[in-house]
Amino acid sequence: MRLDKYLASCGVGTRTEVKKILKQKKVSIAGQIEINPKLQINEATTAVRVAGQQIIYAKYQYFLLNKPTGVITATKDKNQKTVLDCIHPNDWQEDLFPVGRLDKDTTGLVLITNDGSLAHKLLSPKKHIKKVYSAVISGEVNSQTIKKFSKPMRLKNGDITKPADLVLKEYSAKRNISQVIIAISEGKYHQIKRMFAANGMHVEALQRIKMGNLILPSELKQGEYRRLTEKEVENLK
Ligand code: URA
Repeated sequence: MRLDKYLASCGVGTRTEVKKILKQKKVSIAGQIEINPKLQINEATTAVRVAGQQIIYAKYQYFLLNKPTGVITATKDKNQKTVLDCIHPNDWQEDLFPVGRLDKDTTGLVLITNDGSLAHKLLSPKKHIKKVYSAVISGEVNSQTIKKFSKPMRLKNGDITKPADLVLKEYSAKRNISQVIIAISEGKYHQIKRMFAANGMHVEALQRIKMGNLILPSELKQGEYRRLTEKEVENLK
């Protein structure tokens, strides 16, 4: 693995920060200062120090992506751009995968990792991990709609959903659209779109803003991603 990639994956800093640290001659291997970001190292055996501190190899990577529209939540696709194509080649490794799915036209928080057991926990129906979305709905969401969402709901194909928390943020009578926040604890296919469809309403835009304790940072633009902090990883476990 390249030295800069290795240092970034161990949480030393972003790739840009790592390059700076290397230029500042803070990195040493076997007592020798190393400044070459492209140097190939063996992550399992090379002892790297930063400012005298031994670096511990991080087995698992955790990235939080703000998924743009038009990108599919898959690892590989012949014709379409996937969420893994959003990961810079320096950060990319072949065992990364997205945790759960968002529709192609849904934006927002996607966790990308190679930590299978965390993914399993987050996706397990038994754990009831909450996923929160901001949505634009055509039509008026009123107290009756909110009440319907607060109870198990039968979808058009007969599927029954668990109660969801629906909150109206704003209704524009002029445009006849409602801005809402909706929290669900399941991950049925097209769940939110189908829940509104069951009530004769259409989802115009959907963005995931939270999964468990993980929050989509407001400064992260669509298509951008960053590593989770150690605390964010701990909070998910
Ligand atoms: N519900 C949907 O309908 N689509 C998503 O992408 C996520 C939840």
